[in-house]
Amino acid sequence: MADSSHLPDPDRLARLRIVLVGAQHPGNIGAAARAMKVMGLDDLVLVAPERYPDPEATSRASGAEDILSEARVVSTLEEALADTALAIATSARSRRTEWPLVDVRAAATRAVAASVDGPAAIVFGRERAGLNNTELERCQLHLQIPANPDYSSLNLAAAVQVVAYELRVAAGAEIVPAPSHEPVTGADMEGLFGQLQGVLEASGFLDPKEPMLLMTRLRRLFYRAAPDRIETNILRGALRSLDPRGSTNRRGGDTPGD
Ligand code: SAH
Repeated sequence: MADSSHLPDPDRLARLRIVLVGAQHPGNIGAAARAMKVMGLDDLVLVAPERYPDPEATSRASGAEDILSEARVVSTLEEALADTALAIATSARSRRTEWPLVDVRAAATRAVAASVDGPAAIVFGRERAGLNNTELERCQLHLQIPANPDYSSLNLAAAVQVVAYELRVAAGAEIVPAPSHEPVTGADMEGLFGQLQGVLEASGFLDPKEPMLLMTRLRRLFYRAAPDRIETNILRGALRSLDPRGSTNRRGGDTPGD
């Protein structure tokens, strides 16, 4: 019998989401579902899987078919993250642009703490190519499972297992609640970035033909600052008032303090 002391709070586990982007082998999807169920997780989102549903997924789930049948299939990562309070991308290797990189244990603690505000998602990439830069930039933090530097790429479902285990441990630990604030979602942040990009292009500061890494760096800045809803509304109102294209309603509907 499994030890039932220190059982994590099921409400916390319910707000932890596993997102698989572009999974290529249905067997890995099934094995990931099993890895989740063993750790008490059940929110699985599949972004544009290559072959799904598939009998191989069902067979590798062996007992976790319920996780599969309740899994949501969406076509973009944006949809998978629209309601999240935090999204963490996983990556087997370091990327060109520096991004806040946390180890798996610290990431699990951050995810559980953020899940008080809404779903916290851990995002996994394709077996062959991982996540692309745009997908990585949709996530506030990057997570790496420490591994042999000469052979650091885990099988997708094995990576899900390690992360799911750490999430379970973190969900059982004492969490110090963040000071009260109104959380924002992934969709709110995307709205801010879209508006910011539009204003910067209209003002001529951002050249769409030579964007360099401007939006990437600005994303990183805002993710680090982790603005809440009121702060986001202030930023959006300020951007509207500065927009050189003019605005029918300069003070905007969501003025500071709303
Ligand atoms: N060739 C790919 C490896 C993909 S492995 C690449 O270099 O990115 C498939 C997925 O498993 C990865 O996208 C990631 O989500 C996860 N994964 C594998 N090894 C990992 C590690 N050491 N740390 C974090 N995630 C890992």
